[in-house]
Amino acid sequence: MSGVVALDTFDAEGTKYMRGVFPDVIESDDPLHASWPEHAVGLFVAKSKVTGDIIRSTKRLKYIVRHGTGYDNIDVEACKEKGIILCNLPGISAMSVAELALALTGACAKNLVEVSRQIRAGEKLNKRYKSLYSASLLTGKTFGIVGGGRIGQLTAKKFVGAFDGKILMYDPYIPENGSIWDSIPHLRVHSVEEMAPLVDVMSLHVPLLPSTRDMITFTLLQKMKTTAILINVARGGVVKEEDLWRALKLGVIASAGVDAWVNEPPTREVYGSILDMEKLVMSPHIGGSPAEVQTATCISMVDHMKELLDG
Ligand code: NAD
Repeated sequence: MSGVVALDTFDAEGTKYMRGVFPDVIESDDPLHASWPEHAVGLFVAKSKVTGDIIRSTKRLKYIVRHGTGYDNIDVEACKEKGIILCNLPGISAMSVAELALALTGACAKNLVEVSRQIRAGEKLNKRYKSLYSASLLTGKTFGIVGGGRIGQLTAKKFVGAFDGKILMYDPYIPENGSIWDSIPHLRVHSVEEMAPLVDVMSLHVPLLPSTRDMITFTLLQKMKTTAILINVARGGVVKEEDLWRALKLGVIASAGVDAWVNEPPTREVYGSILDMEKLVMSPHIGGSPAEVQTATCISMVDHMKELLDG
């Protein structure tokens, strides 16, 4: 027995591949599922919570491969205690997340969601919709990239290619020379505070860390142009949400495109009338959701596990 357990359900193509490589994989709808901690040597997980108690109750677990980026749902400390090797798959969804950053930016600038709503509801379009956001032209504008890793780089290239944009970048961990940024026309800034007043669009691409939690506050938003757009395709906690809602209500910035939320998926029960704000363009954490990305991620997850088990 391979001792491989799939804790979540994965896309059909990827699952087919997984069953081909690990024919005896214990899947989430398997009757043995409840007793998986006894069997698992290797664990595939996407969104399920792998708590410290679960980790400590495993008998033979050696490897966890996370379908996606980050370990937000896994007790990393407990894994360290038990010597379990963790592996995730950053990068596969990067192009798709960059595409979403661009799509949200366009939807915000052109007020597409609100205008679509008005048309669908049969509302009489008044002149107001033509002047809702003054940051509606994107060509030649200044785009701020916060976090210059895989997704930040791809998003910057898209802003340049699509909008002939000027790029400002903030990432203190990327060397001034000798990185992929050498090939992307940009200017460096040394803080989000320095970036805020200079950009028409600020796009967030940092992981959620103690240093990035609540990075975007009301005070920071007040430093931005009133015509500016904020895009969060990173993690919910990077933005202090109540500050963003307040800033949008008060017209401190023009609009925001949000894919990453503190509470996911975003529901009416949690967010209430925030979801009605016309200056908010929303998606429910779908950066990595295209079918091609899901399949490629699953195949890579399986290949990683095979390599780990084969030593
Ligand atoms: P990455 O590790 O390649 O890049 C992250 C960058 O952030 C790094 O260059 C790092 O130096 C920088 N950084 C870290 N702390 C910083 C700080 N305090 N200030 C400024 N920069 C800082 O990661 P990536 O693949 O580009 O992904 C970025 C983030 O996007 C992920 O961590 C995740 O939160 C998010 N993500 C979202 C989706 C989605 O569906 N919306 C999908 C994948 C990833």
